[in-house]
Amino acid sequence: MSFEGLVAFSATDNESRRNCKRTMRVRVEKVLSAFGLEYNKTMKAMKEHGAIISGSSALRVLFAEGFEPGDIDFYVGREGSAGFQAWIESESMYREDVGKPPTEPDDWYSAGRHGIREVKWLKESETGKKMNVVTTQDVCPISVILQFYTTLSMNIISWAGVGCAYPSLTTKRIGVLVGRELAENRRVQRRIQKAAERGFLIVSTWKDDAVTEALGPHQCLKGRTCPRGARNMRTNRGLLCMVLDEGKEGEMQKMMPNVSWMMMGGEDCGDEHDSIRVSTRRHRLGAFVSIKA
Ligand SMILES: [Zn+2]
Repeated sequence: MSFEGLVAFSATDNESRRNCKRTMRVRVEKVLSAFGLEYNKTMKAMKEHGAIISGSSALRVLFAEGFEPGDIDFYVGREGSAGFQAWIESESMYREDVGKPPTEPDDWYSAGRHGIREVKWLKESETGKKMNVVTTQDVCPISVILQFYTTLSMNIISWAGVGCAYPSLTTKRIGVLVGRELAENRRVQRRIQKAAERGFLIVSTWKDDAVTEALGPHQCLKGRTCPRGARNMRTNRGLLCMVLDEGKEGEMQKMMPNVSWMMMGGEDCGDEHDSIRVSTRRHRLGAFVSIKA
């Protein structure tokens, strides 16, 4: 069942809700254990230091079957970073990967760019497994996902649950670039190619037929299915979430930063009757990401 389907199904009755949570939890446990990490300990450390998982591991758990993530990416706010790294050092055999060539300064995920303060590339010498610990500029690492190069990556695993910003596209294995010009960038092209090998399609515009088809008929500017217009992480237009254990709904909601964003401006996305249009200036993807006090 797709992540969207699971979330919808979990609302039908108590037993379905428990089953859906268990399904997600098993998926998260599997991803963590593939990297030699124990679920309870890892979740506890993530809670204590304010760390989340994003990248390919967070994408992987949205599907019942699929690719093997090549690495696990933790994102942690600047205040929790030292503590979280100390935890990794004491609980695992991941150590800084000295053999890794330095990141080129214009890489999307290099320090000082896109909300990223520091990146540590770690490796477990025995298994060769890779882990990246990214410290974000912001105290809360969640909003950094909105600065990723494609909507396909805008997913998180937190200690309380799993969240997905563009479920109607992501669960159909489709992503949109946050800027059309990125399609010309060779690093981004390599990432698009890698995604394609895993069965994902990343397109450069919201007008792409694959996007329109994936969105299907829906109520525009409502809920998380419609990607159009301004959205806020703390509203019902925030991330589509599934908590991992009973009673964590409130916790998942509480950790969301008060951040508004807009990737898709006023373009039509299926509802011809909707006449709301946003000024063309805002059509530029990723036109704003604002943090309200
Ligand atoms: Zn719409």
